[in-house]
Amino acid sequence: MESHSEIVETMLNIDNVTVSFSGFKAVDGLSLKIEERELRVVIGPNGAGKTTLLDLICGKTKATSGSVKFRGTELTVLPEFKIVRAGVGRKFQNPSIYEELSIQENLEISIPQAHSVRRSLFFRRTPEIREQIASVAEQIRLSSQLKKKAGLLSHGQKQWLEIGMLLVQDPELLLLDEPVAGMSHKEREQTGELLRSIAKGKSLVVIEHDMDFVRSIAQRVTVLHQGRLLAEGTVEEVQADPRVIEVYLGN
Ligand code: ADP
Ligand code: MG
Repeated sequence: MESHSEIVETMLNIDNVTVSFSGFKAVDGLSLKIEERELRVVIGPNGAGKTTLLDLICGKTKATSGSVKFRGTELTVLPEFKIVRAGVGRKFQNPSIYEELSIQENLEISIPQAHSVRRSLFFRRTPEIREQIASVAEQIRLSSQLKKKAGLLSHGQKQWLEIGMLLVQDPELLLLDEPVAGMSHKEREQTGELLRSIAKGKSLVVIEHDMDFVRSIAQRVTVLHQGRLLAEGTVEEVQADPRVIEVYLGN
């Protein structure tokens, strides 16, 4: 008999992964699962291996051993561009937008068919693409400023634009490294809303330091320490965990 209950599939399955840099294990025997429409926050002290974890998922850094499966596809053997095509979008700590182009143009050239700016000038005129750009622009709160040069945006708005540049690629999994660093309180709140709205249809892995922000967005939190999993649970659970307090939250 057919089941009518919704099947929640594991989106990402990291199994016993180690990343060694000439003998030093930045990630050490780590296993982690991310489900569909999950918003996972990863915290941990400096050097815990958080950025390396994202580099590993997106193929920027190769695993020394272990497996990373995205919807059953092994990612550790794929080059970065194939991982992007498979549906994984990565945002780095510093926004990499085109300052001289308008917000609209930045979004347009991020659409997958647009392999060059010139081709994108052709593609962007289709109604479907206009609609997609308009909807992403609204989600990232930049609808009223589409014609503005990206270089003129505030730091926070540049971060949103970069998230928007990922969203137009329609990835199933987004990886965000410290997305609210340098943002005002208001911008942090609005980013929290943005991430929660994204998580209605996609999975996210978000690295973050600001515990107030973590509390405002997190469902489950993973705590890394020395490349290993130290704790995992709700914000309340990890905040009450003596090991987490000792290595991370104590000071
Ligand atoms: P986090 O993002 O949690 O602060 P990272 O993942 O950036 O930590 O780094 C984890 C550890 O791995 C650190 O000790 C860092 O110095 C080391 N590391 C990161 N990348 C490299 C690299 N390319 N070569 C050598 N060591 C690295
Ligand atoms: Mg980092």
